[in-house]
Amino acid sequence: MNWRPTDCHAHSTHSDGSMSVADVAARGKALGVRVTVSDHISRDAPTSVDSVAAIESYLDDLDQYDVLRAGEFCWHDALWREVPPLLARRFTHRVGSLHSIRLPNGKFFRAFSSALPEGLTVSQYMTAHVASLEALAAEMPVDILAHPTLVPPPMRLLDPHELWSEELETRAVNALVAAGIAFEVSARYQPHERLVRRAADAGVRLSLGSDGHKLEQVGNIEVPLALVRSLGVGVDALYDPERHGSRTGAFDA
Ligand SMILES: [Zn+2]
Ligand SMILES: [Zn+2]
Repeated sequence: MNWRPTDCHAHSTHSDGSMSVADVAARGKALGVRVTVSDHISRDAPTSVDSVAAIESYLDDLDQYDVLRAGEFCWHDALWREVPPLLARRFTHRVGSLHSIRLPNGKFFRAFSSALPEGLTVSQYMTAHVASLEALAAEMPVDILAHPTLVPPPMRLLDPHELWSEELETRAVNALVAAGIAFEVSARYQPHERLVRRAADAGVRLSLGSDGHKLEQVGNIEVPLALVRSLGVGVDALYDPERHGSRTGAFDA
């Protein structure tokens, strides 16, 4: 068996990472981990990859290195809708993110905000989060949902079981099953075990992601790997773009 762990989500200096693509590739080699460069591709994120032309240059650069070629697209930003199919096929896989969610009033709200939207309870926020997740799954041609449990910092202090009802977990998992999108077990925004188990039990493929932005993070997927192993998920079942293909990318033959 020559299974090698795959980090499906990490950043370089093309967006807000601190390492060059060459350094990301070298770090993966040193760790024995297959690494990905999945920089932000959005007009509303800290990135240089903010147009179709910039995506072409970005992929031209990644082509020169031994890395998987991905991108992390903001659901709430329209750039992903403008990527032509032939350009989409140059990615090994694509990652979608809820960096903003849609509130019941139709406005978008950043998931990094230091306070909850005015007048919204935690429970209402979580319902809006899952409704946004369902919309992402229905609309977005991506292979992985990044950090599915990303919420604003004040909510991260709460027990995730207070945030996530079993009903909301089921809705989220069902949306991913229907779309064929993998659930990222993130090293950066670690999901609670009950949700990961529910996803795995429902047949959602799990994906390991460091979401690394610097040396000690990129390729470091030990915590998510330990979690999926503790659930009895075989490493062969983890999402691997080379083996499982992409909904729109380079390995779907
Ligand atoms: Zn993200
Ligand atoms: Zn990221």
